[in-house]
Amino acid sequence: MRIVLMGPPGAGKGTQAKKLAEAFSVPQIATGDILRAAVQQGTPLGKKAKEYMEQGLLVPDEVITGIVRERLKANDAEKGFILDGFPRTIPQAESLDKILEEMGVKLDAVINIVVPRDELIQRFTGRRVCPNCGATYHVKHNPPKQEGICDKCGGQLIVRADDDIKTVEKRIDVYERETKPLIDYYKDKELLVNIDGNRPIEEVFEEIKGLL
Ligand code: ADP
Ligand code: AMP
Repeated sequence: MRIVLMGPPGAGKGTQAKKLAEAFSVPQIATGDILRAAVQQGTPLGKKAKEYMEQGLLVPDEVITGIVRERLKANDAEKGFILDGFPRTIPQAESLDKILEEMGVKLDAVINIVVPRDELIQRFTGRRVCPNCGATYHVKHNPPKQEGICDKCGGQLIVRADDDIKTVEKRIDVYERETKPLIDYYKDKELLVNIDGNRPIEEVFEEIKGLL
């Protein structure tokens, strides 16, 4: 099972990726999560990525591609993976093609989660994440059992640093400009599947699972 989850920021990629990873026993590889962990730990990668992330810009292709190459070649990704948040540019998609070719494997599908802009804004403003285990909640659509506390590990939930309205608008613009062209890229390769993401989490999940 080798899947790419695409869609604008806030579409629900992380939410669906976690559920799919569990259902199919393959790792979720989320470049945003990898970068946030690096920022938190203050590693050289984190120091490089921090400024771009805070501004809602993409981290340079060569930085992110190196990380993904290494991660995809790890043992736990041998039987498959759910890529979440990568690729985000045409050069990244071309690099992914090369990496997969080196590994002698192919993508099964690219799932494009479609959500209108107005709804995305709602999702960002209600998003809460656990800095400890990475679980994602929404104050209205997917609330934790106890307000502000992670169901999975008991951690204190926070608002992501880049989820303020100004950065969110910028991230959606960056998506429109740099990532949306990937829709045609994967359509041409006959890998693209569009999914209506403007429905409850479980409904979206059941449809994707059914497809796979
Ligand atoms: P992405 O990884 O694409 O940026 P997330 O998975 O973090 O998006 O989801 C963004 C926010 O929207 C989170 O607060 C999440 O709980 C919520 N969310 C995800 N999918 C849905 C859905 N189908 N309906 C309503 N809210 C959702
Ligand atoms: P995400 O968690 O997917 O919303 O990503 C958060 C931020 O991490 C983005 O706004 C970018 O700054 C950075 N990022 C994540 N994935 C990539 C990628 N594939 N290419 C470039 N930057 C990325």
